[in-house]
Amino acid sequence: MASFVRGLKCRLCGKLYPVEPTNFCTDDFGPLEVDYDYDAIKSVLTREAIAARPFNMWRYRELLPLDEAPLVGLQVGGTPLVRANRLAAILGVSRLWIKNDAVNFPTLSFKDRVVAVALSKAKEFGFNTVGCASTGNLANSVAANAASAGLEAYIFVPADLERAKILGTSVYGANVIGVRGTYDEVNRLCTQVAFKYGWGFVNINLRPFYAEGSKSMGFEIAEQLGWKTPRHVVAPMAGGSLIGKIQKAFQELALLGLIDQPRCSFYGAQATGCNPISDAVKTGKETHRPVRKPNTIAKSLAIGDPADGYFAAKVIRESGGWSEDVSDPEISEAMALLAKTEGIFAETAGGVTVAVTRKLIEQGRIPRDEDIVLCITGNGLKTQDAVAGCLTEPAVIGTSLEEFEPLLDRSREGQPLLV
Ligand SMILES: *Cc1c(COP(=O)(O)O)cnc(C)c1O
Ligand SMILES: [Zn+2]
Repeated sequence: MASFVRGLKCRLCGKLYPVEPTNFCTDDFGPLEVDYDYDAIKSVLTREAIAARPFNMWRYRELLPLDEAPLVGLQVGGTPLVRANRLAAILGVSRLWIKNDAVNFPTLSFKDRVVAVALSKAKEFGFNTVGCASTGNLANSVAANAASAGLEAYIFVPADLERAKILGTSVYGANVIGVRGTYDEVNRLCTQVAFKYGWGFVNINLRPFYAEGSKSMGFEIAEQLGWKTPRHVVAPMAGGSLIGKIQKAFQELALLGLIDQPRCSFYGAQATGCNPISDAVKTGKETHRPVRKPNTIAKSLAIGDPADGYFAAKVIRESGGWSEDVSDPEISEAMALLAKTEGIFAETAGGVTVAVTRKLIEQGRIPRDEDIVLCITGNGLKTQDAVAGCLTEPAVIGTSLEEFEPLLDRSREGQPLLV
């Protein structure tokens, strides 16, 4: 497999760097991004070539930053794009789809995409030990993929994370370190650890490669819509990377002549308890003001000082999109709504996305008769407590039919089973 990567490039000043485990420009501390030879890619990557490959993220491998065939996460991606007519009816829109990364393999979130690239790259660089700073899903994914790749993993998380996310990390045999602090404080510690021990931290020194993995969600959306982009995309934002990478994916497909020039507006979704990017968009600030103490049940999105906040706000603004944030009760209620209408149990971030979409439709920011795709990024089984308060307890009866029949009567009258 040939590599189509020319090097790394500063997103602020354009300075070029060789392919190395580094993530910032030494001149201006701007983030580095992978630079590709698109002319060379164009000569090999056709719709037919893509269609002939297995339906996972690697069918777009020329647009991902590896030198060799992938070594980690070979089955990641290829998640369903679901036409969501029942949710559409409730929201009052005509054409709605859900890109469902709640069923991504192996750890049920879109983070498997970024980790597949980051750990494959870590192997190419020769790292034996990898790590991350995480709000939960990244921890799960690094731990699982490192286990299957035979890599040692050190995972740093805020100590107050959901139990399921901690357990779903330690089960893979990773070294899990709960840090008493916010995600931003965890991240700062990890920067020191990465530097001191020379390990590959997926979202620090491997970040330029890691972030490219998110593009595969955008490639799949366009292909699954029949090589078309939707008019509107709503995505949850934590560090603010995913939303910009979906836009980049659409632009790359157009550059390669695989789709028409996209006209797509991007909408970023956050929780009100940690809304640095949506606040920047709504108040017209160019750079966000960090949230020092995030306070929301959407812990996976609780990054107070998002690394790509500036770029996310720019993508939203320049695409004609918008950003909103929603309260914890709205998040829980929207998790239940998505499950009841579409049979999709998403985590808190999914509740954020659905609730923000509803708000933007009500505000008239998203029109009712154009194609809308919602990015559902994580699985509800990991954040069960967040929705428990919205549900009724199951009715418990004895083993006789007589005890069931009154329940059935109540149910047919539209009453709750339990009295
Ligand atoms: C990490 C994460 C996001 C946000 O990703 P960024 O690229 O950091 O903005 C969204 N949803 C879930 C479930 C996540 O774990
Ligand atoms: Zn620079």
